[in-house]
Amino acid sequence: AVATTAALTLTACGDDSDGGAAASGSGAVKGKVGVILPDTTSSVRYESFDRPYLEQAFKAAGVGYDIQNAEGSTQRFQTIADQMLTSGVTVLIVDGLDSNSAAAVQRKAQAQGVKTIDYDRLALGGVSDYYVSFDNVKVGEELGKGLQKCLGDKKSNIVYLNGAPTDNNATLFAQGAHGVLDKAAAYTKVAEQAVPEWKAENAATIFEQMWTEQKGAIDGVLAANDGVGNAVVSILKKNKEAGKVAVTGQDATLEGLQNILDGNQCMTVYKPVKQEADAVAKLAVALIKGEKGETNGTVNDPEGKRDVPSMLLNPVPIFKDGVKQVVDDGFVKKADLCKGA
Ligand code: BGC
Repeated sequence: AVATTAALTLTACGDDSDGGAAASGSGAVKGKVGVILPDTTSSVRYESFDRPYLEQAFKAAGVGYDIQNAEGSTQRFQTIADQMLTSGVTVLIVDGLDSNSAAAVQRKAQAQGVKTIDYDRLALGGVSDYYVSFDNVKVGEELGKGLQKCLGDKKSNIVYLNGAPTDNNATLFAQGAHGVLDKAAAYTKVAEQAVPEWKAENAATIFEQMWTEQKGAIDGVLAANDGVGNAVVSILKKNKEAGKVAVTGQDATLEGLQNILDGNQCMTVYKPVKQEADAVAKLAVALIKGEKGETNGTVNDPEGKRDVPSMLLNPVPIFKDGVKQVVDDGFVKKADLCKGA
């Protein structure tokens, strides 16, 4: 009987835009979860990792779902939210492009009695019921410690390429990294800039300017994610300096891991997105059932002047010798990683 129920649920949830059907399956959770992801250009994570892991998690939980991507447009973000609210989602999960637009969506949902969860990024000034993410200050600390491990004690000029200024996570990453690197007497920060929208082309332009201004006297680059890191590596390759400058990253993407194996990137921060997707699905189901969600702390929202009940997961630093760990975890396939090697 159990197998039959599971099969029914799976069939019902097969199409992610029609997830509501699952609610009618016997034993299924009555309700539907809407998820809005931010874009497809700031990281490959949303379509390559978040979406499939979220689908898996909702299917396993037997709850209907609708996952959509705002593709970098705050207007599209609002439109998707309106459609989801009209279609009767009972919980709305938002990974915002910026705090204001995400917070506006949360207020609208709240006015209609729909609970909201901040996913990965906290919408400052928002009204979400919960926040599920990694410990983002810790992510920044791992970036800082990683760069330090790659540079060692020798005198080094370092630059920072932070994430989008509209992303609260970028602020936390930079805060964590500075907490580590500012104490290292051997390092001199010679430049620091935020990368608008986390876009690789913006990162490449910014880093090329830094390289020119510093006349190539840059030893380490705190790059906030693998996309930014790869943009830096591309400029270093152009200058025949790739592999000689320590570059960090985040997300354990194929590109990032390949750069690490090639010796052009020193490390990445692996965030097991499956855990994040599972945690948010579990929380959404608890909310639908009118239960309290599981949390392991709070995160302060200085704008909203509130502490948001949160589930924060642990990031994992990955150096060359740790790439296998990401493969063993099933996050990337060995065949894909080793293509063309
Ligand atoms: C996420 C990172 C991602 C970046 C760009 C951050 O908020 O935590 O994993 O690389 O946004 O999308």
